[in-house]
Amino acid sequence: MNKRSVTILGAGLVGSVLAVLLRKRGYEVTIYERRPDMRKEIIGAGRSINLAMSNRGWKALELAGLREDIEAIAIPMPGRFLHQEDGSSAFQSYGKNGEAIYSVSRGELNKKLMDLAENNGVTIHFNQRCTKVDTATNTIYLQEDNETTEIKCDLLFGADGAFSSLRTAMAFNDRTNFSQFYIEAGYKELNIPAGPNGEWLIEKNALHIWPRHNYMMIALPNIDGSFTCTLFFPFEGEPSFESIKTEEEVRTFFNKQFPDAIPLMPTLVEDFMNNPVSSLITTKIFPWRNADKSCLIGDAAHAIVPFYGQGMNAGFEDCSVLEELMEAHGEDWETILSSFEQKRKPNADAVADLALNNFIEMRDKVADPVFLERKKIEKE
Ligand code: FAD
Repeated sequence: MNKRSVTILGAGLVGSVLAVLLRKRGYEVTIYERRPDMRKEIIGAGRSINLAMSNRGWKALELAGLREDIEAIAIPMPGRFLHQEDGSSAFQSYGKNGEAIYSVSRGELNKKLMDLAENNGVTIHFNQRCTKVDTATNTIYLQEDNETTEIKCDLLFGADGAFSSLRTAMAFNDRTNFSQFYIEAGYKELNIPAGPNGEWLIEKNALHIWPRHNYMMIALPNIDGSFTCTLFFPFEGEPSFESIKTEEEVRTFFNKQFPDAIPLMPTLVEDFMNNPVSSLITTKIFPWRNADKSCLIGDAAHAIVPFYGQGMNAGFEDCSVLEELMEAHGEDWETILSSFEQKRKPNADAVADLALNNFIEMRDKVADPVFLERKKIEKE
């Protein structure tokens, strides 16, 4: 039987891993990516500069053949380091046997995945934004500058993230359920630079959290000695992105709420004033596919809030499951795609709910004396 030719929208984390796995099975794979080539042009990393990778993610990287390369640039975080309001701090292990999640640079990971995809024979076209998909004819419309190209696809994957063009099109199909939900908080990235000798100024091997009840700041280590901090903060109310506007208000607020972090953040005011505020969305859709012609994967199928550190990991697990199904069902794409959505949808829904709940645990319960006491007992 002839191998189908595969088109993927998006050369992000999931699209690139998927492309490698398909190419290894002998499919002809072409990716269309909205952004310029991040290996040639300096562009923002997009959402979050670093990410926590867990076992689900490592498994897909191993299948793709990239585990060792990424392990070399990953920092283990065997627990969370809490910075309390009263100035005290505490370390909570994630597991009893040193289990860890790993801080990885999103940009480096994505660049290595694109290299691997191209080295395996995948073609990536950059600056090609998909503006529309006709699911009935499996046609994508790609825009570069003012020119639109129309391509009829054989097998199409939408790996184009939380605002996927394929998902937008599918949402209009008959008997398709779709929902999206924004939480009341957004986020802004801030920075703790490396020390004078390139050293980490707070514990390197930990995910740092400053829980403050209805908001929090977290920090993940980078290999250059710096930390990327993320402030998860309400859009409105008191305090909020709306209520803290001037440089003086930023200084006063951080001095009061994050006194131990302030001396480590020399560019705080500049970062706060200049860095964008981004929103946080959960999306759900079903079905994920149109017959054996097109299918959603990664954030395009299930965008979740980041509080469980599992969005990319879940997308990578989609790839591992698809790999198992390709192994089991050969060229029978009707069975592969229907089994894929049946297997993955309940897991995607579960992790979406866990992630929403974990915002409350991270910002609120980890700071609760009862919770701390329970953790202490568990450790003993
Ligand atoms: P994306 O990474 O969004 O990639 C989509 C790609 O498609 C991009 O390259 C984009 O340019 C391209 N594209 C988009 N639209 C189009 C179009 N119309 N045409 C062509 N191309 C298009 N996950 C974790 O596992 N661990 C974490 O610690 C973690 N932390 C996070 C922190 C924050 C603040 C946020 C917001 C998310 C976090 N996530 C984390 C989630 C993670 O970022 C996503 O789950 C992951 O990026 C999904 O990968 P993806 O390839 O499906 O989508």
